[in-house]
Amino acid sequence: MILISACLAGFNVRYDGGNARNDLAVKLVAMGQAITVCPEIMGGFRTPRLPAEIQGGTGDDVLAGQAVVVNRAGQDVTKEYLAGARMVLKIAQDHGVTVSFLKQKSPACGTKLVYDGHFTGHRIPGMGVTAALLQAHNIKCFGDEDLKLANVEPYVAPITWGNLHHNNLLA
Ligand code: SF4
Repeated sequence: MILISACLAGFNVRYDGGNARNDLAVKLVAMGQAITVCPEIMGGFRTPRLPAEIQGGTGDDVLAGQAVVVNRAGQDVTKEYLAGARMVLKIAQDHGVTVSFLKQKSPACGTKLVYDGHFTGHRIPGMGVTAALLQAHNIKCFGDEDLKLANVEPYVAPITWGNLHHNNLLA
């Protein structure tokens, strides 16, 4: 089973009330090959909400207690991010998830890049809190830029793969 950031599947769960719809993500969910999660909503946030960034490191550092997540108002929201990450991990393990495709740059979902904590748009290499926790439990983490058929094929049931071909979704 594949795990996908809910905003990529078209759910309006981003901090600004929008989504980051990706057509392949939507199809994978519709075909029962992927489940969706939003670690921020699962951590207790509502939509819309203030954006947040990791300060003092990346997701791995937050898991180690060496960095924090703060929102744009300066409030420490680390506890909520950790709660959301743990809930996502539980769901992933319960559903036999082996791979995830997550929205890049999010303080929860980022897989290669996150913002540096100064709310200036500057990015640094590293993972978000949820991605770091999933990876620490041997669940592969790819970014949304990797959501391509060639990358999902190994994780999709053959009959579904045939449907994707039949529906000309290989472009
Ligand atoms: Fe999307 Fe992840 Fe942010 Fe939720 S936490 S809106 S799933 S990037």
